[in-house]
Amino acid sequence: MPTPSHTHDLHPSDERTTAAADVTETDVVVIGGGPVGENVAARAVRGGLSAVIVETELLGGECSYWACMPSKALIRPTQALAAARRLPGAREAVTGSVDAAAVLARRDSFTSGWDDGGQVEWAVGADITVVRGHGRLAGEKRVEVTAPDGSTTTIAARRAVVVATGSTPSLPPVDGLGSTPHWGSREATSAARVPGSLLVLGAGVVGCELAQAFARLGSRVTLVASSTLLSKNEARAGELVADAVREDGVDVRLHAKAASVGRQGEDGPVTLVLADGTELTADELLVATGRRPAVGDVGLDSVGLPTDAALAVDTTGAATGLDQGPEPWLYGAGDVTGDAPLTHMGKYVARAVGDVIAARAKGERVHDGAWGAHATTAQQRAVTQVTFTDPEVTSVGLTAAAAGEAGLRTRVVDLDIAVAGSALHADGYTGWARMVVDEDRRVVVGVTFVGPDTAELLHSATVAVVGEVPLERLWHAVPSYPTISEVWLRLLEAYGL
Ligand SMILES: Cc1cc2nc3c(=O)[nH]c(=O)nc-3n(C[C@H](O)[C@H](O)[C@H](O)COP(=O)(O)OP(=O)(O)OC[C@H]3O[C@@H](n4cnc5c(N)ncnc54)[C@H](O)[C@@H]3O)c2cc1C
Repeated sequence: MPTPSHTHDLHPSDERTTAAADVTETDVVVIGGGPVGENVAARAVRGGLSAVIVETELLGGECSYWACMPSKALIRPTQALAAARRLPGAREAVTGSVDAAAVLARRDSFTSGWDDGGQVEWAVGADITVVRGHGRLAGEKRVEVTAPDGSTTTIAARRAVVVATGSTPSLPPVDGLGSTPHWGSREATSAARVPGSLLVLGAGVVGCELAQAFARLGSRVTLVASSTLLSKNEARAGELVADAVREDGVDVRLHAKAASVGRQGEDGPVTLVLADGTELTADELLVATGRRPAVGDVGLDSVGLPTDAALAVDTTGAATGLDQGPEPWLYGAGDVTGDAPLTHMGKYVARAVGDVIAARAKGERVHDGAWGAHATTAQQRAVTQVTFTDPEVTSVGLTAAAAGEAGLRTRVVDLDIAVAGSALHADGYTGWARMVVDEDRRVVVGVTFVGPDTAELLHSATVAVVGEVPLERLWHAVPSYPTISEVWLRLLEAYGL
């Protein structure tokens, strides 16, 4: 029972949407209008098909209103300030502290005040029909829509139904959590105020980003991690982020297991008790312990698929686990599939799904081999991710451990980022890089960079991994002087070139 805290009303735009009752048939029905659903529909239309998006809340989904955009809007001003403070000459010009109210106001502008009119306008302009309501699969190629007024209509899909319903927060088994009002990521990213003190439970990407953001906005933050920080990344990344957030005043508790939680009244302080008996008390509790695919109420059971597991898909996004015949009609994309829950990866799959539906509808050849136009090969080999902490943690492809598990014979090169470009970038620049090389093919299969402003470096690594560029050729990609990219030269030299 999270606190009903995001005090901002939602404004689903009524203009230019279509009543469910007015749509009986279309080529493609997309259930869920997050970034992924929008992209599936746009590509299908581009391929000559008609498409309807059924959206129950705001067109644009979690990413636009409660995730990527507002969280990064909260983070960016404090990072700019920290960057200025690392530079003598600029530092002296910083005479005040962060203006939290101005940061929250700018955040509001990035969520368009939780009004999706702009996105509806884009969709309609792209010839996509937007229907308000809750969509549920009702057997093969049929979607039942419950409109906001409670009426139900069934839309028949001539070609395909795409489930793009995203994910919902998952709560850990902590005594009292279910009955204790608290923040989830939605309440944190849409917060109307900065709490005096904040407990953050969970130290994955969302927990780390928001812990640091709120610390820099003025909260006294305690970050409770069940293991280490960012435990899905290379271990060194979590260590560097832990060092940095501690410098921001965050009290980091590693290997801490939350046992119970309680709150004094609706708005009083919240106390989290750890398994070792330690009591932590703060004005607010943010639970950021992961998300699970939103499959519960989508009607997957109507075609014999489970409603308690991610929607499994093949490399073209077609659902597996049911007999689809020669032309698949049921697809999944985005967080609902449980694969790489990231907007850009979901949109990449969405483009393939929209295109493959159109190709199959036209009887065109499907290119589903590795790196083919309709295959989502990067989902398996080249997932990219940026954790927008300061330092940023950026990665593509396999960690050293994952490469080992995949049976690759690898060589790992590690070094601190200490080049002319990083020294100029900031005094005391602290960064780290890891390159994982497949020794049999002599290509890079994974890269991690940790350091301020390494996010913009990531695409160079992505091109190297996706292009399977031989190390001997990568040697000829000469980094400009003096840039942080010189780390590439150091990595290749350390490898032995
Ligand atoms: C705090 C936070 C920060 C994040 N930051 C980043 C980031 O910086 N970069 C990044 O790449 N990723 C980030 N992510 C992840 C990103 O938000 C998700 O991967 C992305 O939103 C997934 O897109 P989606 O379209 O699959 O799902 P969603 O964005 O969740 O959209 C699903 C849509 O489906 C609708 N829906 C659900 N069920 C139904 C139904 N039955 N009928 C009709 N409509 C339905 C929902 O209302 C919603 O609009 C972040 C996540 C969080 C929580």
